[in-house]
Amino acid sequence: MCQNLCIHSHSPSRGKLPPKPSRPPSRAAEGAPDYQDLLHKSVAARETAYAPNSNFKVGAALLARDGTVYTGSNKELTINADHAEQSAIHKALIDGQQPQDLVAIAIFGVRGEVADASFESRTPACGNCRQALYDLNPEIVLVGSQGKDQVQVSKLADELPGAYHRQRLLPSPPRATGHADPLIAGALEARSHSYVPRSGFPVGAAVETDKGVFLGAQTEVSSYASQAARMALGAALEAGSTHILRLAIIGGTQESKMERPKDLPFDSFEALYELAPEARVVLPNQQGLLEEYSAQQFPRFNEGQGKRV
Ligand SMILES: [Zn+2]
Repeated sequence: MCQNLCIHSHSPSRGKLPPKPSRPPSRAAEGAPDYQDLLHKSVAARETAYAPNSNFKVGAALLARDGTVYTGSNKELTINADHAEQSAIHKALIDGQQPQDLVAIAIFGVRGEVADASFESRTPACGNCRQALYDLNPEIVLVGSQGKDQVQVSKLADELPGAYHRQRLLPSPPRATGHADPLIAGALEARSHSYVPRSGFPVGAAVETDKGVFLGAQTEVSSYASQAARMALGAALEAGSTHILRLAIIGGTQESKMERPKDLPFDSFEALYELAPEARVVLPNQQGLLEEYSAQQFPRFNEGQGKRV
């Protein structure tokens, strides 16, 4: 799986996921991480933000112990915006990183254009994202700007005094079984990377676009649940996709069974409708068979009463 979670539709290995790129060698012996470089990556990631409502664009760069950096940006796809930190956390977990191996995150946000003055103070993580990061690993280091070419580094634990540390049982999602349709194969692959300590119900999504297939996994940290469909749509936007063709959402705890999530994410459907009213939606029915719908019916769609098209 490449870092922007894409499966190129022109891949000759149709229906198969490409092998993961090799990660950089361990940096454990190389001394302290390069926080300035991490901050630069968050500044670059900000360019992929989608913030038509606030125009406040944020980038995040999350460093794992093995040296891999996962970037993310905020997305205002619906009234519930997804934060840059959410996006970066999602990418790390879907790539198989363990929470305790997430070591530092740089955050950079500016309303409007970036100028030298934008670097004079750091962008703080919101309280919810601090709690989300704390839930994953209280040892994570926060990195922000403190003037041009200077960084401010602090320990997450110091930024969240008296924090509550959730310890929940993390269910193992079912393995991906593969599928002839790359969209469905992608949704099953994403489901296998779900992080669902709260609901216990794995959900994966995939979006087929002109740039390939992009994945999203249900990711529950802190009080928010990053919806699989919105994560997939966000990844597609980050990659510069302009034509969204199909969205598949597949839940379920068993490898051989595809289930429709009980709580369909209606704001994700609204986002899809806004971005691509002609897109198709693929969902399992009550028997686990896949059905295809028109995106246009979902903003008014009621569970169990949808009209198949
Ligand atoms: Zn936040």
